[in-house]
Amino acid sequence: MTGHLTTVAGVAVDTRHWIGGERVASAATFTDHSPIDGGVLGEIARGTAAEAHAAVAAAKAAFPGWAATPRAERARLLHAVADGVERRLEDLAVVETADNGALLRSHRRGVMPRVAHNFRFFADWLLTLDHEDFDTRGHTNHVSWDPAGPCVLITPWNAPLMLATWKIAPALAAGNTVVLKPAEWTPMTASLLADIAAEAGLPAGVLNVVQGLGPEIGDALTSHPDVRRISFTGSVPTARHIAASAAANLTPLSLELGGKSPLLVFADADLDLAVELAVEQYDNAGQVCLAATRLLVEESVAEEFTRRFVERAGQLKQGDPRELPTDLGPNIHERQLEKIDGFVQRAIGAGARAVIGGERLAGRFYAPTLLTDVAQDSEIVQEEVFGPVLTLQTFRDEAEAVRLANDTRFGLAATLATGSRERADRVTGQLVAGTVWVNCFFVRDLQAPFGGSRHSGVGREGGTWSFDFYCDVKNTVTAPKGWQENG
Ligand code: NAD
Repeated sequence: MTGHLTTVAGVAVDTRHWIGGERVASAATFTDHSPIDGGVLGEIARGTAAEAHAAVAAAKAAFPGWAATPRAERARLLHAVADGVERRLEDLAVVETADNGALLRSHRRGVMPRVAHNFRFFADWLLTLDHEDFDTRGHTNHVSWDPAGPCVLITPWNAPLMLATWKIAPALAAGNTVVLKPAEWTPMTASLLADIAAEAGLPAGVLNVVQGLGPEIGDALTSHPDVRRISFTGSVPTARHIAASAAANLTPLSLELGGKSPLLVFADADLDLAVELAVEQYDNAGQVCLAATRLLVEESVAEEFTRRFVERAGQLKQGDPRELPTDLGPNIHERQLEKIDGFVQRAIGAGARAVIGGERLAGRFYAPTLLTDVAQDSEIVQEEVFGPVLTLQTFRDEAEAVRLANDTRFGLAATLATGSRERADRVTGQLVAGTVWVNCFFVRDLQAPFGGSRHSGVGREGGTWSFDFYCDVKNTVTAPKGWQENG
C-alpha cells in the first residue's frame, strides 16, 4: 500500500471515494480482508454523512446536463464503459476473486462479461424504449420515460460488480445520476469501475462511489431529500431499515432481497438432471440469493435421488478460488461462517441429520451440507442461511409439493424438475416466485423481469421494468383542437 493506492492481485486500486469526478479521502478508514487467506487488501476510506452529502450534491449538480444529453450520446458513453470493462476484464476478475472469494473462472467467463453486457444491454434498450401512442376520444396519449434525478444504489458482497452494474447501467441510461455504496466487505471493483467510467468520458458527478460501513453512512444517503430513487440489494433487516429511512421523503424503492427457494423434484423427472440442478445450488459457496436451498423430492424417488446426489456432491472440489479446477471457494467472512454454523448446529440439535457435511473446515470453508429430517416450521427450512447448506424434504403428491414450496415468507425463485409439461404448467401457476425455472437453473435474460415476491423484494428490474422504476414515466394527452391555424 502506498498512499491511497493499494495493490490487489497485482492491480492498483484507489481506496478513496469517487465524488464529482475526483478522488476524496476520509479521516478514517476500514480494513478490507481477502476471504481466501484473511490477508489485508487495503485500508478503505470510511465515509461519513459529509461524504454521503457531497456525493449526492455532486450527483444533483451533474443531473441536468446528463438528463439533457441525447439518448444516443448516453448510449454511446455506456458502450464506452462496457469497452473499458472488457479491456480490464482480467484485472476486474482477479480483484473480485481476491475480494469476495468467488471463483476466478466464473469471474472470467461469466460474471465480468455480464458486467459489460449490463452496460450494452441497457444502452441499446434505451434506444428502443417506446410505447405506441393511443387515442382517447380523439386525443393522443404519448408515454415518455423522463429521467428522475440522483439515485442511491446500495449493493451486497456476493456478486459485487455484477449486481452494482445491473443497477448503475439502467439508472444512467435513463438519464439519472448515481451514488453507489458498495458493500464494505467487497469495495474494490467499484473503485476500478470509477476509473473505467472516467476513462470512458462519463462526465464528472454522473457516477459517484462512496465507500463505508452501511450502518454508518447509510442513513445519510437513504434519507436525503435530493435522492429520487433508492435501489437496494441485500438482506431483509437492512431493507426494513432503508424503507423506514426513505419514508421521510417517500423516495421510491426497489428492493432485491433474500430467498429460501425450492427445487421440486418429481418422480417423472430426469433424475440425473435433477441431481445436477441440486448440486448447482452450492455455487458461490451457497452465497446466491436465488439458490434453491430447499430440495423437495417426491417420496418414491427420494432414496435414489439422495444416493446420486451424495455421489455427485462428493466430486466437488473445494479450495482456492483462483485455481481453475476449484468448484467451491471460501465463504466471505468469519462472521458469515459463524452464522452458517449456528444455523446448522441448531438444526442438528433440533433433530436434523447431516447426510453430508454439517461442519466448518479449516480456513474460511464450510463443508457442503445436506440436512434431512427437518420440520417445515423449523428455522433451517424457514430462514436464509447464505452458505453451502441445503435441506431435503419429501412430498407425496403435487398438492403437498406446492404447499411446502410456498410455505415460507420468501418468494424469489423456484426450480422444477419434471418430465411432464402439463405438470410444469400446473405447478408453475401455483408457485409464489419472481422467477421459475423448469428443468434448468440460472438462465437469465436482461429483458426478463427480475425480482421477488413477499419478503424477497419489492418491484421488478430488467428491460422496460428497469426504466419504469428509474424514470418518471409521463403520459402526455394532446387534444385535437386549440391549435393556431398555421401551427
Ligand atoms: P446486507 O443487507 O447486510 O448489506 C447490503 C448492503 O447494505 C451493504 O452495502 C451494506 O453496507 C448496506 N447497509 C447495511 N446497513 C445499512 C443501512 N443501515 N443503511 C444503508 N445501507 C446499509 O446484505 P449482505 O449480507 O451484504 O448481502 C446478503 C443478502 O443479500 C442476502 O440476504 C441475499 O439473499 C441478498 N441478495 C439478494 C439478491 C437479489 O437479487 N434478490 C442478490 C444478491 C444478494
